[in-house]
Amino acid sequence: MARAATMNAFERDRYSRQIRLPQIGEAGQERLLASQALLVGMGGLGSPAAMYLAAAGIGRLVLSDFDRVEASNLQRQIIHRSADVGELKAHSAKRTLAEINPACEVTALDWQLDDEELRGQILAADVVLDCCDNFATRFAINRACVAHARPLVSGAAIRMEGQIASFLPEATSPCYECIYPGELEHEETCAVEGVLAPVVGVMGSMQALQAVLVLTGHADAVRGKLLLFDANAMLWRSVKVPPAPGCPTCAARQTR
Ligand SMILES: [Zn+2]
Repeated sequence: MARAATMNAFERDRYSRQIRLPQIGEAGQERLLASQALLVGMGGLGSPAAMYLAAAGIGRLVLSDFDRVEASNLQRQIIHRSADVGELKAHSAKRTLAEINPACEVTALDWQLDDEELRGQILAADVVLDCCDNFATRFAINRACVAHARPLVSGAAIRMEGQIASFLPEATSPCYECIYPGELEHEETCAVEGVLAPVVGVMGSMQALQAVLVLTGHADAVRGKLLLFDANAMLWRSVKVPPAPGCPTCAARQTR
């Protein structure tokens, strides 16, 4: 937390529309400015999530992605530009974020993190956003978030559907594995199933929103809720999700 204790005049002006909200205020904006988020995946979800967090004034973003930008990404991964095809996504994303808000400190991790590196990054973060596209990574992130008591905002989108849930480091909160046990067996991909561009934009923006709520002391709004978005019917559903008894990842926490 290297930043000065209070905002300067420029920051007060830059974030004035947010500071005006009773839910944020100066104290909430200060908390955002002093916060660090880890984003795993700079694809369709990570793009809007990172852009909104940077614009909203989060202090530090750590971006983890070892893929390169492909032409078929550009339809929905809006942090990358046509000229970025072939470049590492972590670097292309960092450049866009510097244009949006140069005061946001961005670290680009452009290699595949091993378990220890992932745990270290999660430990350093105030909130973790899972914006990745495979269950193996999702489960690894969840395990580390439970182990190190970090809030996890998990989003997913495919076809014309999206899902989002925040998992809090609390005995009464479910974890990712409580909701999606054994999903490894039926993995679906956007490459095969397809996905409508704004659907990932909606879900990634919701991840940024939930992260801001968690960071500014409004975790009540997200606690124990799985939100399901159906773009075909233009409907949101909110499902209450309790911790799963005997969950291999969080059962020990439930009985504490
Ligand atoms: Zn669990």
